[in-house]
Amino acid sequence: MTWHQKETDTVLNEFGTSLKGLSADERKERLEAAGSNQLSEKEPLKAWQKIGKHFVDVLIIVLIAAGILKGLTGDYIEMAIIFAVVLINGCISYFQERKAEESLDGLKQMMGMETIILSENKQVTVDTAALVPGDIVLLRSGDVVPADLRLISTSELVIEESVLTGESVPIEKKEMMFDADVALGDRINMAFSGTLVQSGTASGVVVATGDKTELGKINAALLSVAQQTTPLIKKMTHLNKLIVKGLLVLIAFVVVFAVFRYGMEFNLLLSALIALIVAVVPEGLPAVLTMILSMGVNTMAKENAIIKHLPAVETLGAMTVICSDKTGTLTKNDMTVADVITKNGQLDTSAAVTKAEQLLLSVMSSCQDIRTDSCQKLSELSGNPTERALLMYSEPLSGDFLPAIDKLPFHSEHKFMATLHDLPDKSRCLYVKGAPEKLLAQSRLTKQERHYWQTQTDRLTKKGRRVLGFAVKPDFSGQTVEHEDVSDLQMIGLAGIIDPPKEEAIVAVEQCLQAGIAVKMITGDHKDTARAIGETLGMKHTCRVLEGSDIESMSDASLQSLVQEVDIFARTTPEQKLRIVNALQANGEIVGMTGDGVNDAPALKKADIGIAMGIKGSDVSKQAADMILADDHFATIARAVKEGRRLYDNLTKTIHFFLPSSLAQGLVVLVALLTNMPLPLSPTQVLWVNMVTTVALSYAIGFEKAARDTMTRAPRPVNEPILSGYSLFRIFYVSLLVTVPCFIVASQFEDTAVRQTVLLQGIVLSQACYMLSCRELLHPAINRNMFRNKALFISFGALFILQFFSVNTPYGNALLGTVPLSAEQQIQLILVGAILFVIVETEKMITKYLAGRKSRTKLA
Ligand code: ATP
Repeated sequence: MTWHQKETDTVLNEFGTSLKGLSADERKERLEAAGSNQLSEKEPLKAWQKIGKHFVDVLIIVLIAAGILKGLTGDYIEMAIIFAVVLINGCISYFQERKAEESLDGLKQMMGMETIILSENKQVTVDTAALVPGDIVLLRSGDVVPADLRLISTSELVIEESVLTGESVPIEKKEMMFDADVALGDRINMAFSGTLVQSGTASGVVVATGDKTELGKINAALLSVAQQTTPLIKKMTHLNKLIVKGLLVLIAFVVVFAVFRYGMEFNLLLSALIALIVAVVPEGLPAVLTMILSMGVNTMAKENAIIKHLPAVETLGAMTVICSDKTGTLTKNDMTVADVITKNGQLDTSAAVTKAEQLLLSVMSSCQDIRTDSCQKLSELSGNPTERALLMYSEPLSGDFLPAIDKLPFHSEHKFMATLHDLPDKSRCLYVKGAPEKLLAQSRLTKQERHYWQTQTDRLTKKGRRVLGFAVKPDFSGQTVEHEDVSDLQMIGLAGIIDPPKEEAIVAVEQCLQAGIAVKMITGDHKDTARAIGETLGMKHTCRVLEGSDIESMSDASLQSLVQEVDIFARTTPEQKLRIVNALQANGEIVGMTGDGVNDAPALKKADIGIAMGIKGSDVSKQAADMILADDHFATIARAVKEGRRLYDNLTKTIHFFLPSSLAQGLVVLVALLTNMPLPLSPTQVLWVNMVTTVALSYAIGFEKAARDTMTRAPRPVNEPILSGYSLFRIFYVSLLVTVPCFIVASQFEDTAVRQTVLLQGIVLSQACYMLSCRELLHPAINRNMFRNKALFISFGALFILQFFSVNTPYGNALLGTVPLSAEQQIQLILVGAILFVIVETEKMITKYLAGRKSRTKLA
C-alpha cells in the first residue's frame, strides 16, 4: 500500500478512525477481524523430528552401535535393554527440551511489549499484540515501533531502521507527503514495525499489523530469546566427546591385548567391550545438567529475574561489580515535590498565589510530556514520575494546563525540555524545565541572582532531593522551537523532589558487599543528590563522586585507575557509562550493568551481564540485555546472583557426583578384561547403574538449597576450569573407594549371579553415600540444610524402591540377572558405603583446613 503517498486525513478516513483514536469496543471487533499483531512463527519442527535430533548425539550413537553388536551376537535381551535405555534417554531429552521451550515461551510473554495509544482521546497502555489498524500510537524515545504507522505528528523523531533496510545510520522522520512512490528507506513519513526510536516523540496511525507489516513480509523475528546453553554445559559435552575418543583408543588397545595375550573369544570380547563403553560414558549427565539449569532459570523468573541469554546464569556467579541506575532501581521512583523555591524563597502554598508564582505553576503543568489534553484526569495519566510529581503539586494550586504548539522533548543527554505556548494574554512564551545548572548556564542573571539560585540548588541536592529548575523566555516570536532558542532565559523557580531509597535496596547493597561484589551507582542526577542517596544506601566509597564532565576530560588510563575507588558517578551520559564498563573490565572485573534508556544499549551489550528494566526500560534496552528485571528492583539482582551461585554449585556438585561412578565402573570392566576374568557386571547392570540409580540420585543435588556461605564468599574466578586438580584427585580416589571394597566383598562368593548382585548393590549404596557427601563440596554434608531439601528424601525413597525391585523381586532378577541378597550381605555393603562416606568427609575437612591455611599464609 502506498500510505506514504496519502494525506494523513485521507489515511484516517480510510481506516475509519480519528486523531482521538478508536473506542475499546471498536478495537475489540477489529482485533477479531485483523488478528493479533504478531509475526507468524517459522514452520516448527514436528515432534518426531525433535525426538530424532536426540538420537544423533555421539554418545547415543556409541550406545546404538553397542546394541546392534549385541543383536548380531544373538544377545537379544541385552540388545533390547540397550535400545530401551537409548529410547528413554531420547524421550527424557525431548521432554526436557519441550519444558525448556515452554518456559522460554513464557519468558517471551513476560517480556511482552506494551504500547501507548489514544483511545477516545485517553492515553491507554495496551499489549502490542492487541494493536489494530486505525489505532493512534504514541511513540517515545527507546520504543520499538509496534506496527507500521503513517506518522501524523513528530517532534525530533529519529528512527534506526537497520532491521528492515540494513542501514544502521538513523533517519530523521517527519510528517509530509510524497507525490510519487519512493523506496522503503526513504519513506520518512512512515515508521515501520520492529525499527527503533532513537530519540524524539511522534504519533501515528496504524496502517498494517502482524504479517502484513513490512517486517512481516521479510519475516524477521522481532524479539528472539535464543536457545543456548551455558559454557559449563558446553565444556561438559566437549569432555564427553573426549571421553568417547579416549575410549576408542582404549578399546583398540584392549582388543589387541586380549586377542594376542589370551586369545579371547570374539563373543566374550565384544560383550566386554560393550560393557566398557556403557560403563565409562556418563550417558545421563547432559540431560541432568540441562534439567538443573532449566529449573534454575524458572526459579529466577519466579523471582522476577528473567534470563534472556543462558550463559548469564553462570556469569552471575562470577560477577564482581554491579553498576546500577539510581532512579527507580535503587530509589522508589515514588516522587513527591517537597520544596518549591521562587526568587523570593520557599513558596507558601497556604497564601494567595502571586502572578510570578502562577507562571511557575503553569510551567510545571504545561512543560511536560504526559498530558496532551486539559480534559485528561491526572489519575488516568501514566508516564514520567518526575512530571507526574510536578503535576500533582501544581494542579491543586491551579497550575493550568496550556497545550504546546511545539516542543523539544526531554533527553537525558541535554537534561532539559522546552515547550512553546500561546498565553491567555495572546503573547507567545517558551517554557523550559531541566537540570538547574543547564538552565542557569542559559539564563540572563546578575551575579547576586546566580549566587542565590546556586545556593538554593546546593541546599536541596545536599538533602538528597532531585532538583529541577524552571525558566521562561517571554515574547517568543518563532513558530517552532530549536535548541539554539533555549538561551537568554529568565529563571523563575526550583523544585526539590523526594525519591527515597528502597528499603530492600539498602539490604541488597549490604548483601552484595558481603558477597565481594562492588556496587556502583551511575546516575544522570546531581552529584550531591547521588551522594546523599548513596550514603543512605550504605555504599562503600561515597566521599568522592565522579561527574560526567570529569570523565569527559579524563584519559582511559586515568579512568581505569580511578574507577576502582569511586562508587558514585553523577550527571553521566550513556557514552560515559560505556567508558566506565570498559575501564572496569580492563581492571579484570566482571561487570553487571543496568540500563533503561535507548542509548544504554551499547553499555548493556558491552557489560558481562546487561540488565534491563522490565517496567521503565525501553524496548531497545531490553533487546540488548542478558537479563531483565520484571520489577526494576536492585534487590532482584542480588537474589539472581545468589540463585546463579547456587545453580553453578549444583552443576559442579552433579559433575563431581557423576564422574567417579563412570570411572569406577570403567575400572571394574577394564581390570576384568586385562586379567582375563569373567565380567564383574553385565552391560545391563552397568546401564542400570548409569541410567537409573545415578540419575535418580543426582536429581536431589539439583534441588540443593543455597549454602550458608553463598553470599559471604568471594565471586568465583570466571575462567575456573571445569575440573580442577583437586576435582580429578577426588574423582579418582572415590572411584577406587567405590570399586575396591565392593570387589573385595563380592570376591567371597563363588556364584556369578551373587557376585554380580553384591557388586551392583555395593556400587549403588556407595553412590548413595557419596551423593550425600556431594551435597557440600568442602563443608560437612550432614547439616541443617539437608532437611530443607525434600528432593533428597524423594531420591533416597526412589532408590530404595528401584533397588528393592532389582534385587528382591523375580521381575528385577529376571531383567537384571540378579539374585536376592541375605541380610548379612546387605549389612556388609551398607558398611562399605558408610566407610566411603566417612573417608570423603574426613578428606574434605583436611582439604578445607589446608586451603584455609594456604589463604591465611597468602594474606600474611
Ligand atoms: P538514573 O540514570 O539514575 O535513572 P536520572 O533518572 O536521575 O538517573 P535523568 O533522567 O537523565 O537521570 O535525569 C537527569 C536530570 O535531568 C535530573 O536530575 C533532572 O534535573 C533532569 N530531568 C529529569 N527528568 C526531566 C524531565 N522530564 N524534564 C526536564 N528535566 C528532567
